[in-house]
Amino acid sequence: EDNIALQQLAQKMSLKATDVLMKLIQMGMGGVNINSTLDSDTAKLLASEFGYEVENVAKSDDDMIAEARGAAGAQEDLEARAPIVTVMGHVDHGKTSLLDRIRKANVAAGEAGGITQHIGAYRVDTGKGPIVFLDTPGHEAFTAMRARGAQATDVVVLVVAADDGVMPQTREAINHARAAEVPIIVAVNKIDKPGARPDQIRQELSGLGLQPEDWGGDTLFVNVSALSGENVDVLLENIALQTEIMELQANPAAAAEGVVLEAYLDKGRGVVANVLVQNGTLNQGDLMLAGVALGRIRALTDDRGRRVKNAGPATPVEVLGLPDLPQAGDQFFVVADQKKAQELVDARKKAVAAKAKTTTAKGLEDLYAMMK
Ligand code: GDP
Ligand code: MG
Repeated sequence: EDNIALQQLAQKMSLKATDVLMKLIQMGMGGVNINSTLDSDTAKLLASEFGYEVENVAKSDDDMIAEARGAAGAQEDLEARAPIVTVMGHVDHGKTSLLDRIRKANVAAGEAGGITQHIGAYRVDTGKGPIVFLDTPGHEAFTAMRARGAQATDVVVLVVAADDGVMPQTREAINHARAAEVPIIVAVNKIDKPGARPDQIRQELSGLGLQPEDWGGDTLFVNVSALSGENVDVLLENIALQTEIMELQANPAAAAEGVVLEAYLDKGRGVVANVLVQNGTLNQGDLMLAGVALGRIRALTDDRGRRVKNAGPATPVEVLGLPDLPQAGDQFFVVADQKKAQELVDARKKAVAAKAKTTTAKGLEDLYAMMK
């Protein structure tokens, strides 16, 4: 926040706090005392009374984003949006196979183009509406996003192999989902295997608080085989049903915001950022702020490899045109005020540099310590 303690302000001007307080009262400020905290406007006014100028009352990152963005979209423009799903589970339980199967099933459904591009997420159409899957299974991406304040998931599909059982990463996934307050749908995978014991899985997960619906609980379980494709359509239907009641909404008329799924440097094309639009519509030509990167969007490409002019809510899209590399998990915003956005980027770059410096210093300390 940009508040400053009266005593701190007095100290900065080399004045007695009591004198500063007297001035405040003279200025007509009621309800103040020696321990008051002043907002930045009051602090500036007060300082000017003493012939000082308040230069940089530090603004928060959030405030600066809000200023750079300008007017927010209107509430009444909200529309239903597709759910966003992350697949999690223990290693080898079939996360990648399931994602591959879903992607292929969609292609087999005869949809024009099919999913051709790996851009960190893809959108599939089910009989019950579109669903977006984050392409990289695993817990790291999920945690990285949450660490940066982004939440990109509406539902976690927890994959548990029917011939194995609850394993450490199964528990970890449950903990992540719970911390993020995201509902879980369980995909009991590998039911084609002779050793499959899907009821055993239900038993074990019940012990962890995930009670199957048909056992009187409120967690959806679907037996699937990523290998044969059996019941994968049922899983998709259940995801659609589960998320329908969540009434997920977004405002396509707003300036876009969302999250960076991955970003890399391409020799020919420069910075490539794969992003998920969460709200608003992202347009070619928009000024995008993502982490420490600020630039105009030169080109947009969808998960079918098609050039597009814009991307609405719950759409993964590849973005060209950023001058710097954002990080996976960074939130992005389309901004209206380039100058304010540049100030924010400068502040962020400074903070990153300062952090790098202390880390290096620390590294040297450690090195010296080792040499002693
Ligand atoms: P991940 O580590 O969770 O991504 O698991 P993978 O998708 O890489 O699968 C691990 C192994 O299990 C691979 O050899 C897959 O072929 C196999 N597998 C995945 N799903 C099934 C399934 O439904 N049935 C059978 N029989 N094998 C599967
Ligand atoms: Mg995998």
